[in-house]
Amino acid sequence: MGEVGGFLKIEKHTFQYSDPAQRVGHVKEFIERNPTEVVSQQGARCMECGVPFCHNGCPLGNLIPDWNDLVYRNRWDDAVRQLHSTNNFPEFTGRLCPAPCEASCVMEINEGEAITIKQIELAISDHAVNAELPIEAPEHETGHSVAVVGAGPAGLAAAQQLRRMGHAVVLFERDEAPGGLMRFGVPDFKIEKQVIETRVAQITGEGVELRCGVDVGVDITVEELRDEFDAVILTTGSRVPRDLPVPGRELEGVHYAMDFLYERNRRVAREFGPAPQGTTPADTGITAAGKKVVVIGGGDTGADCVANSLREGAVSVVQLELLPEPPANRPDDRTPWPLWPAKYRKSYAKEELDALDLGEQDFSVVTTAFKGEGGKVTKLKVSKAGDAPPFAPVEGSEFEIEADLVLLAMGFLHPEQELLDDLGVEKDARGNVKSVAPYTSSVDGVFAAGDCRRGQSLIVWAISEGRRAAKMADKYLGTREKDIADALTAH
Ligand SMILES: Cc1cc2nc3c(=O)[nH]c(=O)nc-3n(C[C@H](O)[C@H](O)[C@H](O)COP(=O)(O)OP(=O)(O)OC[C@H]3O[C@@H](n4cnc5c(N)ncnc54)[C@H](O)[C@@H]3O)c2cc1C
Repeated sequence: MGEVGGFLKIEKHTFQYSDPAQRVGHVKEFIERNPTEVVSQQGARCMECGVPFCHNGCPLGNLIPDWNDLVYRNRWDDAVRQLHSTNNFPEFTGRLCPAPCEASCVMEINEGEAITIKQIELAISDHAVNAELPIEAPEHETGHSVAVVGAGPAGLAAAQQLRRMGHAVVLFERDEAPGGLMRFGVPDFKIEKQVIETRVAQITGEGVELRCGVDVGVDITVEELRDEFDAVILTTGSRVPRDLPVPGRELEGVHYAMDFLYERNRRVAREFGPAPQGTTPADTGITAAGKKVVVIGGGDTGADCVANSLREGAVSVVQLELLPEPPANRPDDRTPWPLWPAKYRKSYAKEELDALDLGEQDFSVVTTAFKGEGGKVTKLKVSKAGDAPPFAPVEGSEFEIEADLVLLAMGFLHPEQELLDDLGVEKDARGNVKSVAPYTSSVDGVFAAGDCRRGQSLIVWAISEGRRAAKMADKYLGTREKDIADALTAH
């Protein structure tokens, strides 16, 4: 374990984000690292609790106290091995995970005192990448082939695991480059795309065949897919956005957040690199430059829209949330420790908005109509919302907000349905792939992982599910092998 009584002697130091007023001037990553000695000392604060609740908080089951201790003892290579034994991509989670592990850390019983797990994970992953990621080729080939459909974090994790088990893996991706929402949703200032490229180079170096620009179900039919591969893993994400069908929705200037974010990420890639190898679709022309922007939706997607708008040169940005403002501290009656606290967290984008004094974030606001001139949006008609479902407009509280770009960031409903229907997989009540056994669809040999199975979630869950679905597919292929051997013996 770390240093005896470390948590009593050593002050908490986590990483900081760079100055919000400065960082809006560029698209470089904004996490600022502490020196290695400081991170080692932070590892010493972990007391390797008898019951490490952080294990439970982390969907990957990361062995957190073990690598905290290794970092404290400056055994960085061992920490790298330990971390990769449960997490294929710590450089993704170290940058992007909201860190449920920290919320469930025993130190967090005193709110704000958690071990700086995310910082330590990022430092270990920096060490791994600087030392060059090793190519872990399989020891033998099984002769089985698996198609993984969708190269987001779930698909990348599933593909890497299956390849290391010795299967021939083809990873199909509709977009021009891999990464899923991490590449085309999440902005560079949260994760520079070179980070994804470096990991993908390892995965393909290990023998995964990556085919980008292939829309499965269109460019390759479901029948061809089933003929060519012994098993299929669906990792297509949850991509159908929630709409706001109010009067004026059809006006020019009202867009889904993802259309804006895709466009913006492609532009940044073209301008600052690394540019994807495949053919990038033509510009759609959605831009926040010089616009009065209103973002509807107070979550991560909304925050990324706000921050991108500021960097593009919007003249004002307002972010609206339907739900009431959460309490400032952990509400012990609703989400006591070690649960994820339902409390207000000031987003990085709100910090930027405050620093530039270009707009505001407002809670309990419901949009009832868009108004426009000449077919273009000019205003939102809004009201204060009631504080319980269905969050209906409060009479007499109407007001208007000027806007010439409105971004709808109100979450996602479910995966696109066509491919699921073509394959004939059963769906759950929300339209996600239904599991009849863990990560196993109702169709023989078809598995599912990530957002397309659990609904829009987190990268850490996507990686975890990708790993588990790979295990189930491997088991299935092993059983098939045994069945064939048994059948041959019977003859
Ligand atoms: C704007 C935004 C910001 C986010 N920020 C964070 C964050 O900071 N931290 C965090 O933990 N989570 C964040 N999330 C959530 C996180 O990105 C997702 O939960 C995660 O990416 C899901 O991974 P996935 O692999 O299941 O799906 P996706 O990442 O959606 O990947 C699915 C892939 O499948 C491909 N695909 C779909 N259909 C086909 C087909 N028919 N043929 C071939 N390919 C296909 C898609 O093109 C895509 O590349 C964010 C989400 C959004 C939208």
